[in-house]
Amino acid sequence: MKLTDVWQSSDKPTLSFELFPARTEKAAVNLVKTIDILADLKPDFVSVTFGAGGSTKEGSRQLLHMLKHEKGLDVIAYFAGFGLGPEDIVAVLDNYKALGVDNVLIVRGDPPRDQDFQPHPHSFTYAHEIMSFVRPRYGFCLGVASYPESHIDAPSKDKDIEYLKLKVDQGAEYIICNYFYDNVYFYDFIERCHASGISVPILPGVMPIYSVKMMNILANLCGATITEQVKQGISALPEGDTQALLDFGIDYAANQCAALLEIGVPGLHIYTMDRSRSAVGIVGRLRDEGRL
Ligand SMILES: Cc1cc2nc3c(=O)[nH]c(=O)nc-3n(C[C@H](O)[C@H](O)[C@H](O)COP(=O)(O)OP(=O)(O)OC[C@H]3O[C@@H](n4cnc5c(N)ncnc54)[C@H](O)[C@@H]3O)c2cc1C
Repeated sequence: MKLTDVWQSSDKPTLSFELFPARTEKAAVNLVKTIDILADLKPDFVSVTFGAGGSTKEGSRQLLHMLKHEKGLDVIAYFAGFGLGPEDIVAVLDNYKALGVDNVLIVRGDPPRDQDFQPHPHSFTYAHEIMSFVRPRYGFCLGVASYPESHIDAPSKDKDIEYLKLKVDQGAEYIICNYFYDNVYFYDFIERCHASGISVPILPGVMPIYSVKMMNILANLCGATITEQVKQGISALPEGDTQALLDFGIDYAANQCAALLEIGVPGLHIYTMDRSRSAVGIVGRLRDEGRL
Protein backbone atom coordinates (compact mmCIF):
# COMPACT_ATOMS: atom_id res chain seq x y z
CA MET A 1 0.00 0.00 0.00
CA LYS A 2 1.17 3.52 -0.75
CA LEU A 3 2.02 5.67 2.28
CA THR A 4 -0.02 8.52 0.87
CA ASP A 5 -3.08 6.25 0.69
CA VAL A 6 -2.63 5.29 4.35
CA TRP A 7 -2.53 8.95 5.39
CA GLN A 8 -5.51 9.77 3.17
CA SER A 9 -7.61 6.94 4.57
CA SER A 10 -7.00 7.62 8.28
CA ASP A 11 -6.16 10.46 10.67
CA LYS A 12 -4.23 8.07 12.89
CA PRO A 13 -0.48 8.68 12.95
CA THR A 14 1.50 5.93 11.24
CA LEU A 15 4.14 3.82 12.94
CA SER A 16 7.18 2.69 10.98
CA PHE A 17 10.49 1.01 11.75
CA GLU A 18 13.78 1.20 9.90
CA LEU A 19 15.84 -1.96 9.37
CA PHE A 20 19.07 -2.68 7.52
CA PRO A 21 20.12 -5.96 5.87
CA ALA A 22 22.10 -8.27 8.16
CA ARG A 23 25.85 -8.45 7.53
CA THR A 24 26.51 -11.90 9.01
CA GLU A 25 24.62 -15.18 9.33
CA LYS A 26 24.26 -14.70 13.08
CA ALA A 27 22.87 -11.20 12.53
CA ALA A 28 20.44 -12.62 9.96
CA VAL A 29 19.05 -15.07 12.53
CA ASN A 30 18.67 -12.26 15.09
CA LEU A 31 17.07 -10.02 12.48
CA VAL A 32 14.29 -12.53 11.83
CA LYS A 33 13.56 -12.63 15.59
CA THR A 34 13.59 -8.82 15.69
CA ILE A 35 11.20 -8.63 12.74
CA ASP A 36 8.76 -11.04 14.38
CA ILE A 37 8.73 -8.96 17.58
CA LEU A 38 8.36 -5.69 15.66
CA ALA A 39 5.61 -7.19 13.47
CA ASP A 40 3.59 -7.86 16.65
CA LEU A 41 3.51 -4.08 17.17
CA LYS A 42 1.53 -3.84 13.90
CA PRO A 43 3.59 -1.14 12.19
CA ASP A 44 2.10 0.52 9.12
CA PHE A 45 5.45 0.22 7.33
CA VAL A 46 8.91 -1.17 7.73
CA SER A 47 11.74 0.47 5.78
CA VAL A 48 14.92 -1.11 4.44
CA THR A 49 18.18 0.78 3.90
CA PHE A 50 20.38 0.49 0.82
CA GLY A 51 24.16 0.30 1.30
CA ALA A 52 26.49 2.90 -0.15
CA GLY A 53 27.43 2.22 -3.77
CA GLY A 54 24.93 -0.61 -3.99
CA SER A 55 26.88 -2.67 -1.41
CA THR A 56 23.72 -4.23 0.08
CA LYS A 57 21.78 -4.42 -3.18
CA GLU A 58 21.07 -8.16 -2.87
CA GLY A 59 20.67 -8.08 0.92
CA SER A 60 18.18 -5.21 0.69
CA ARG A 61 16.20 -7.04 -1.99
CA GLN A 62 16.09 -10.25 0.05
CA LEU A 63 15.03 -8.40 3.20
CA LEU A 64 12.29 -6.55 1.31
CA HIS A 65 11.10 -9.87 -0.12
CA MET A 66 10.96 -11.47 3.34
CA LEU A 67 9.17 -8.51 4.93
CA LYS A 68 6.61 -8.22 2.19
CA HIS A 69 6.00 -11.77 1.11
CA GLU A 70 6.80 -13.87 4.20
CA LYS A 71 5.85 -11.47 7.00
CA GLY A 72 3.04 -9.64 5.19
CA LEU A 73 4.36 -6.16 6.06
CA ASP A 74 4.13 -3.02 3.93
CA VAL A 75 7.57 -1.69 3.05
CA ILE A 76 9.49 1.42 2.11
CA ALA A 77 12.53 0.51 0.02
CA TYR A 78 15.35 3.01 0.27
CA PHE A 79 17.54 3.68 -2.74
CA ALA A 80 20.90 5.47 -2.39
CA GLY A 81 22.18 6.53 -5.78
CA PHE A 82 25.73 7.67 -5.03
CA GLY A 83 28.11 6.50 -7.75
CA LEU A 84 25.47 4.48 -9.61
CA GLY A 85 24.62 5.06 -13.26
CA PRO A 86 21.18 5.29 -14.87
CA GLU A 87 21.20 1.58 -15.83
CA ASP A 88 22.08 0.59 -12.23
CA ILE A 89 19.17 2.67 -10.95
CA VAL A 90 16.80 1.05 -13.41
CA ALA A 91 18.04 -2.45 -12.50
CA VAL A 92 17.40 -1.91 -8.78
CA LEU A 93 14.07 -0.17 -9.19
CA ASP A 94 12.80 -2.72 -11.73
CA ASN A 95 13.60 -5.34 -9.12
CA TYR A 96 11.62 -3.41 -6.50
CA LYS A 97 8.71 -3.09 -8.89
CA ALA A 98 8.81 -6.85 -9.55
CA LEU A 99 8.73 -7.44 -5.78
CA GLY A 100 5.53 -5.40 -5.57
CA VAL A 101 7.13 -2.54 -3.60
CA ASP A 102 4.87 0.55 -3.55
CA ASN A 103 7.05 3.02 -1.62
CA VAL A 104 10.61 4.09 -2.38
CA LEU A 105 12.73 6.65 -0.54
CA ILE A 106 15.36 8.23 -2.78
CA VAL A 107 18.58 9.43 -1.13
CA ARG A 108 21.83 10.54 -2.63
CA GLY A 109 23.92 8.27 -0.40
CA ASP A 110 27.55 8.82 0.55
CA PRO A 111 30.83 7.53 -0.93
CA PRO A 112 31.31 3.85 0.04
CA ARG A 113 34.16 2.95 2.42
CA ASP A 114 35.52 0.59 -0.24
CA GLN A 115 38.49 2.56 -1.62
CA ASP A 116 38.35 0.68 -4.94
CA PHE A 117 34.78 1.81 -5.67
CA GLN A 118 34.65 3.61 -9.02
CA PRO A 119 31.65 5.90 -9.46
CA HIS A 120 29.79 5.41 -12.72
CA PRO A 121 30.74 8.23 -15.16
CA HIS A 122 27.07 9.20 -15.48
CA SER A 123 26.14 9.02 -11.81
CA PHE A 124 24.12 11.82 -10.26
CA THR A 125 25.51 14.34 -7.77
CA TYR A 126 22.37 15.17 -5.79
CA ALA A 127 19.19 13.42 -4.74
CA HIS A 128 16.98 15.90 -6.67
CA GLU A 129 18.72 14.75 -9.87
CA ILE A 130 18.01 11.11 -9.04
CA MET A 131 14.40 12.11 -8.31
CA SER A 132 14.06 13.78 -11.70
CA PHE A 133 15.37 10.61 -13.37
CA VAL A 134 13.15 8.24 -11.37
CA ARG A 135 9.84 10.17 -11.16
CA PRO A 136 8.80 9.98 -14.81
CA ARG A 137 9.81 6.32 -15.09
CA TYR A 138 8.10 4.74 -12.05
CA GLY A 139 4.75 4.90 -10.29
CA PHE A 140 6.17 4.38 -6.78
CA CYS A 141 5.07 6.61 -3.94
CA LEU A 142 8.40 8.44 -3.72
CA GLY A 143 9.89 10.07 -0.65
CA VAL A 144 13.13 11.85 0.19
CA ALA A 145 15.30 12.43 3.25
CA SER A 146 15.84 15.59 5.26
CA TYR A 147 17.71 16.81 8.32
CA PRO A 148 15.97 19.03 10.89
CA GLU A 149 19.38 20.32 12.03
CA SER A 150 20.44 20.68 8.37
CA HIS A 151 22.54 18.23 6.36
CA ILE A 152 26.13 18.14 7.51
CA ASP A 153 27.49 19.47 4.15
CA ALA A 154 24.73 22.00 3.52
CA PRO A 155 26.02 25.46 2.58
CA SER A 156 23.38 26.97 4.90
CA LYS A 157 20.06 26.07 6.55
CA ASP A 158 18.19 28.13 3.97
CA LYS A 159 19.96 26.47 1.05
CA ASP A 160 19.28 23.03 2.54
CA ILE A 161 15.55 23.80 2.60
CA GLU A 162 15.77 25.20 -0.93
CA TYR A 163 17.28 21.89 -2.12
CA LEU A 164 14.69 19.92 -0.15
CA LYS A 165 11.97 21.91 -1.91
CA LEU A 166 13.61 21.00 -5.22
CA LYS A 167 13.23 17.31 -4.30
CA VAL A 168 9.56 17.87 -3.50
CA ASP A 169 9.09 19.78 -6.76
CA GLN A 170 10.62 16.78 -8.55
CA GLY A 171 7.82 14.62 -7.18
CA ALA A 172 8.58 13.62 -3.58
CA GLU A 173 5.29 12.82 -1.85
CA TYR A 174 6.64 12.57 1.70
CA ILE A 175 9.77 13.34 3.67
CA ILE A 176 11.47 11.17 6.29
CA CYS A 177 13.68 13.05 8.72
CA ASN A 178 16.94 12.28 10.35
CA TYR A 179 16.68 11.99 14.14
CA PHE A 180 17.19 14.79 16.68
CA TYR A 181 17.39 14.83 20.47
CA ASP A 182 15.64 18.16 20.90
CA ASN A 183 12.20 18.50 19.30
CA VAL A 184 12.75 22.24 18.93
CA TYR A 185 14.98 21.47 15.92
CA PHE A 186 12.05 19.64 14.32
CA TYR A 187 9.49 22.36 15.15
CA ASP A 188 11.75 25.02 13.65
CA PHE A 189 12.41 22.82 10.59
CA ILE A 190 8.68 22.29 9.99
CA GLU A 191 8.09 26.02 10.14
CA ARG A 192 10.84 26.66 7.61
CA CYS A 193 9.49 23.89 5.33
CA HIS A 194 6.01 25.39 5.42
CA ALA A 195 7.37 28.89 4.81
CA SER A 196 9.16 27.60 1.70
CA GLY A 197 5.95 26.04 0.36
CA ILE A 198 6.64 22.40 1.25
CA SER A 199 3.32 20.79 2.12
CA VAL A 200 3.92 17.02 1.87
CA PRO A 201 3.81 14.91 5.07
CA ILE A 202 7.03 15.10 7.09
CA LEU A 203 7.81 12.09 9.28
CA PRO A 204 10.07 12.74 12.26
CA GLY A 205 12.84 10.18 12.80
CA VAL A 206 13.31 8.85 16.33
CA MET A 207 16.60 7.30 17.41
CA PRO A 208 16.50 5.61 20.81
CA ILE A 209 19.83 5.56 22.65
CA TYR A 210 21.30 2.06 22.31
CA SER A 211 24.82 2.68 23.60
CA VAL A 212 26.93 5.73 24.31
CA LYS A 213 29.50 4.62 21.75
CA MET A 214 26.92 4.18 19.00
CA MET A 215 25.22 7.47 19.93
CA ASN A 216 28.51 9.36 19.61
CA ILE A 217 29.57 7.72 16.35
CA LEU A 218 26.22 8.29 14.64
CA ALA A 219 25.87 11.86 15.87
CA ASN A 220 29.35 12.60 14.60
CA LEU A 221 28.49 11.17 11.18
CA CYS A 222 25.19 12.96 10.67
CA GLY A 223 25.68 16.10 12.76
CA ALA A 224 22.87 15.48 15.27
CA THR A 225 23.35 17.51 18.46
CA ILE A 226 23.63 15.50 21.67
CA THR A 227 21.79 17.80 24.01
CA GLU A 228 22.76 18.70 27.59
CA GLN A 229 19.63 16.90 28.78
CA VAL A 230 20.85 13.66 27.16
CA LYS A 231 24.38 14.12 28.48
CA GLN A 232 23.20 14.86 32.01
CA GLY A 233 20.67 12.01 31.97
CA ILE A 234 23.37 9.54 30.95
CA SER A 235 25.92 10.84 33.45
CA ALA A 236 23.40 10.28 36.28
CA LEU A 237 23.13 6.56 35.43
CA PRO A 238 25.19 3.88 37.20
CA GLU A 239 28.44 3.51 35.21
CA GLY A 240 28.35 0.60 32.72
CA ASP A 241 24.71 -0.29 33.42
CA THR A 242 23.53 -1.09 29.90
CA GLN A 243 19.94 -1.87 30.97
CA ALA A 244 19.64 1.47 32.75
CA LEU A 245 20.97 3.20 29.62
CA LEU A 246 18.43 1.45 27.39
CA ASP A 247 15.63 2.35 29.81
CA PHE A 248 16.78 5.97 29.87
CA GLY A 249 16.82 5.93 26.03
CA ILE A 250 13.29 4.49 25.91
CA ASP A 251 12.00 7.06 28.36
CA TYR A 252 13.70 9.94 26.54
CA ALA A 253 12.45 8.85 23.10
CA ALA A 254 8.92 8.13 24.40
CA ASN A 255 8.75 11.68 25.81
CA GLN A 256 9.96 13.07 22.48
CA CYS A 257 7.33 11.00 20.64
CA ALA A 258 4.54 12.07 23.00
CA ALA A 259 5.33 15.73 22.31
CA LEU A 260 5.57 15.10 18.56
CA LEU A 261 2.19 13.38 18.55
CA GLU A 262 0.74 16.35 20.46
CA ILE A 263 1.61 18.67 17.56
CA GLY A 264 -0.03 16.25 15.09
CA VAL A 265 2.87 14.67 13.21
CA PRO A 266 1.69 12.27 10.47
CA GLY A 267 3.59 9.39 12.07
CA LEU A 268 6.66 8.22 13.93
CA HIS A 269 9.61 6.61 12.20
CA ILE A 270 11.81 4.67 14.62
CA TYR A 271 15.42 3.82 13.77
CA THR A 272 15.67 0.33 15.25
CA MET A 273 19.29 -0.53 14.36
CA ASP A 274 17.84 -4.03 13.90
CA ARG A 275 16.95 -4.26 17.60
CA SER A 276 13.50 -4.58 19.13
CA ARG A 277 13.68 -3.86 22.87
CA SER A 278 13.65 -0.05 22.65
CA ALA A 279 10.97 0.08 19.95
CA VAL A 280 8.77 -2.24 22.03
CA GLY A 281 9.30 -0.05 25.11
CA ILE A 282 8.54 3.21 23.32
CA VAL A 283 5.49 1.98 21.41
CA GLY A 284 4.17 0.13 24.47
CA ARG A 285 4.31 3.27 26.56
CA LEU A 286 2.69 5.45 23.90
CA ARG A 287 -0.10 2.90 23.45
CA ASP A 288 -0.62 2.54 27.21
CA GLU A 289 -1.04 6.31 27.33
CA GLY A 290 -3.50 6.17 24.41
CA ARG A 291 -1.31 8.34 22.21
CA LEU A 292 -0.70 5.93 19.34
C1 LIG B 1 15.60 8.89 6.38
C2 LIG B 1 16.99 8.69 5.83
C3 LIG B 1 17.30 7.49 5.19
C4 LIG B 1 18.58 7.28 4.68
N1 LIG B 1 18.84 6.08 4.06
C5 LIG B 1 20.06 5.84 3.54
C6 LIG B 1 20.35 4.61 2.88
O1 LIG B 1 19.51 3.71 2.80
N2 LIG B 1 21.59 4.46 2.35
C7 LIG B 1 22.55 5.42 2.43
O2 LIG B 1 23.66 5.21 1.90
N3 LIG B 1 22.32 6.59 3.05
C8 LIG B 1 21.10 6.83 3.61
N4 LIG B 1 20.84 8.03 4.24
C9 LIG B 1 21.92 9.01 4.38
C10 LIG B 1 22.05 9.94 3.15
O3 LIG B 1 22.34 9.21 1.99
C11 LIG B 1 23.17 10.94 3.41
O4 LIG B 1 22.85 11.78 4.49
C12 LIG B 1 23.61 11.77 2.22
O5 LIG B 1 24.79 12.48 2.59
C13 LIG B 1 22.60 12.82 1.77
O6 LIG B 1 21.54 12.27 1.13
P1 LIG B 1 20.34 13.22 0.60
O7 LIG B 1 19.44 12.36 -0.16
O8 LIG B 1 19.80 14.03 1.69
O9 LIG B 1 21.19 14.15 -0.40
P2 LIG B 1 20.88 15.52 -1.15
O10 LIG B 1 19.47 15.91 -1.05
O11 LIG B 1 21.48 15.39 -2.51
O12 LIG B 1 21.71 16.56 -0.27
C14 LIG B 1 23.09 16.32 0.02
C15 LIG B 1 23.78 17.64 0.31
O13 LIG B 1 23.90 18.40 -0.90
C16 LIG B 1 23.25 19.68 -0.77
N5 LIG B 1 22.62 19.92 -2.06
C17 LIG B 1 21.50 19.34 -2.57
N6 LIG B 1 21.27 19.80 -3.81
C18 LIG B 1 22.28 20.66 -4.11
C19 LIG B 1 22.62 21.46 -5.27
N7 LIG B 1 21.87 21.45 -6.37
N8 LIG B 1 23.74 22.23 -5.19
C20 LIG B 1 24.52 22.26 -4.09
N9 LIG B 1 24.25 21.53 -2.98
C21 LIG B 1 23.15 20.74 -3.00
C22 LIG B 1 22.27 19.52 0.39
O14 LIG B 1 22.05 20.77 1.03
C23 LIG B 1 23.02 18.55 1.30
O15 LIG B 1 23.98 19.23 2.06
C24 LIG B 1 19.58 8.28 4.80
C25 LIG B 1 19.27 9.47 5.46
C26 LIG B 1 18.00 9.68 5.99
C27 LIG B 1 17.68 10.96 6.71
